[in-house]
This record gives sequence, structure tokens and C-alpha cells, in this order.
Amino acid sequence: MAHRRGLLLVGGACICLTLLSFTIIHGQDYGLAATMRSVVSIAAITVTTLLSLRNQKATRSLREQADLLDLTHDAIFVRDDADTITYWNHGAEKLYGWPRDEAVGRKAAALLQTAFPSPVSEIKAKLHRTGRWEGELVHTTGKGDRLVIMSRWSLQRDERGRPLATMETNSDITAHKRAENALHQAQAELAHVTRITTMGELTASIAHEVNQPLAAVITNGEACLRWLGREVPDIEEARATVQQMIVNGRRASDVVARLRSLARRSDPLHVATDINEVVDDVLLLLDRELSSNRVSFDLSLGSMLPHILGDRVQLQQVTINLALNALQAMEAVPKGRRHLKIRTALSDTEGDKAVIMEVRDSGPGVNPQSLPMLFDAFYSTKTDGMGMGLSISRSIIEAHGGRISAALNDEGGMCFKVMLPVIEEAGS
Ligand code: ADP
Repeated sequence: MAHRRGLLLVGGACICLTLLSFTIIHGQDYGLAATMRSVVSIAAITVTTLLSLRNQKATRSLREQADLLDLTHDAIFVRDDADTITYWNHGAEKLYGWPRDEAVGRKAAALLQTAFPSPVSEIKAKLHRTGRWEGELVHTTGKGDRLVIMSRWSLQRDERGRPLATMETNSDITAHKRAENALHQAQAELAHVTRITTMGELTASIAHEVNQPLAAVITNGEACLRWLGREVPDIEEARATVQQMIVNGRRASDVVARLRSLARRSDPLHVATDINEVVDDVLLLLDRELSSNRVSFDLSLGSMLPHILGDRVQLQQVTINLALNALQAMEAVPKGRRHLKIRTALSDTEGDKAVIMEVRDSGPGVNPQSLPMLFDAFYSTKTDGMGMGLSISRSIIEAHGGRISAALNDEGGMCFKVMLPVIEEAGS
């Protein structure tokens, strides 16, 4: 306000001086040319004063806006196209430790020792194409601390559309990241523990699955010896029994291999996976459970299903959880009415391709009010239940970018449905 008044005073004084000098020089005796000259001078002074006032207003509003940027807790800085810092707010001073006058003029990436999630050329290309970029960076502060930063970039262009400057708005998510990692770790450990518990529940089936082919190997071996022990050894029959031995030996070693992968504790490994192979693996372990519970089983595997990006062991765990829950629920219905169906298929709703896997049973189902609680941790209606199976299944499926849901069948029983996004094939 004081500046505005000062400008007006200076403008007014200049006009008075012009009038004064006009009167002193020309007195009463003034011609048209002299009058015009002083009118032009006065007009020039007025225009200059008005322009200065406007300029002053714009500068003030810019300064106010820059002050506003100092109020936010985010670290905000602006860098030109050569990565030189031109603006550095109070939040940036606090987060990184360099005062404004030390940061301005330095190269941002060098000062902050920025670690980018992808090649800088790709990031820049995206920024220039869309005008914005968002992602996680690692920055080093003045004290040498490494911080995980959520960074949002906006590109400013000149009138001709050429990149002029980039504004970075950064927030420190180091603590959040650490907590997230600890949570993932805890979830992975819990998933492992429940997997081992589930394997405990399957002990009888597993023992049978390994024992049966081993017993067959012994029988085949004895038969082979008999064929060879004949007066004229029957080589063809002996060969056939040895082949049987190999088939049975492989089966036993397959079961052991599946079990070892289920029992191993490792970080999830997301690779191209065929959901039908996951179901096959699980059936190998569930075979005996199905027959001893007198459950009729219907398998409908979709043909030529596209791959999904997933961790085979984790997806096996989900399938085992769902199937065992179904078997346990069906203990409440008479033997002739226990039906389990596992179905895989491709679903294509409005171009959103997903692979679905359904586990459908003919058990008693649940009270409709408890449907939303089934996936909550520690929700269990079983006396010895942990209530973790479905909650872990949900976190596994969500970590795969998919969804899991439960519904009551019209004809009774429940249907759990898992949807997993398919991998985009190149060119599709
Ligand atoms: P738990 O098996 O230890 O109880 P889960 O998270 O696997 O833990 O399941 C939670 C609850 O969901 C079960 O206690 C049961 O009440 C219900 N449930 C799960 N699957 C079925 C099913 N197929 N039929 C009926 N109820 C089910």
C-alpha cells in the first residue's frame, strides 16, 4: 500500500514539475506546439505511473503466491530445463536442509543425488508428452539421509509451447514405506504359517499321495524280478513294469516337489502363470481328501486361457484354502449331497479381460449377514478355526491386482470367485 502511494506521489510530483517548468519557460505567452509538448509529457508520465502500478500489483501477487508455497509442508522447488534450481520453498529447506540461497542455482539431481525409478530419458519423455509425472524417488538430504519421496512434477511451457520449467512437489514417505514393508513382511510370514498349518491338515492326504506310488513301485519291482527270473526272462514284460515304476516314482517325486514349494518361505515371485496348472497342482494334493469325504467332484478348466502374472505357490495356497473350506463346510450335509466344482474361464467385461476361478460347494452356506465379514482377519465360525485363511487369500489376490468375492448359490452352498487380470500380450 505504501509503495502504491509513493508511486502516485512521484507521478503527481513529475506532473507538477512539468507544469511548473512550462509556466516558468512560457509564462502567459505560450503557443500551440509548447502546449502539445507538455500535454504529451503529462500523458507519458501518467501512463508510466499506471504501468508501474500494474507491475507492482503483479509482483505483489506473485510474491504472495510464493509466500503461500512456503506455508505448505510439502517441499516444492522449481528447476529450469537445464535442471538448475530457480525456486526453493520453506518446505524444501526443512526437508533437505539446504537454505534457499544455497539451493538456488544448483543442479537438482546432483544436489539431491536423485535415484530415479526408471531411466531419466523415459521420465522426461512422459513429462514432455503429458505435462506431468508422478512417482517415487530417493533423495539424499544435506545430512546424508536417504529419503523415499513421493514426487509430482508439472511442466511449465512458454507461449510457443517449449518446456520452460518444472515444478516438483515432494513429500517424504520414508516412514510410511518402512511401515508398509514391515506389514508386507508380517503378511508374508503369516501366509507361510497358515500354509504350514494347512499342510498339517492335509497330512493324511499327503502321506497317502506319496505312499501309494511308492507301494506301486515296490509291486512293480517285484513283478519285474519275477519276469526276469523266469527260465526264459520276459524282457518285454520286465521293461513294461520298469516303465510303470518310473511313472509311479515320478508321481511321488512330483507330490514331494509341490510340497517343498508350498513349504518354502520366499518372497512372492510374479511370473507368467497358467491358472489351470495351479488347479492341477492342488488337485494332486486334494485327491484323497475328496474321496475320503465322499465328495463328488466336477472340474471344468477353460481351454487356451491367457496367462496371468502371479506367484504359483501363493495361488495354490488360495485354491487349497477355498477347497478345504468347502470340504469342511460340506461335512454338515449328508454324504450323497456333497458336490464340489472348480471352474476356470476367461471373463471379458467391456474389454477388461480377466481369468476367473470359481470354487463352488453344496454345503450349508452362511447367514447372508455374515457374508461381508468372511474375509475379515480372525473371523471364524469353526471351534478350531484361526479365521486367517480367507483374509490371507484376499491379500494375496489383491496383491495380484485381482479380486475375490463370496456369494450364496441359489441352489444352496457357496461360491467363491477369484478374478485375476490377464497379461497384455504384445500386439493385443
Ligand atoms: P477358518 O477356516 O479358520 O475359519 P477362513 O478365513 O478360511 O478361516 O474362513 C472364515 C469363515 O468363513 C469360516 O469360519 C466359515 O464360517 C466361513 N466359510 C468359509 N468358506 C465357507 C464355505 N465354503 N461355506 C460356508 N462357510 C464358509
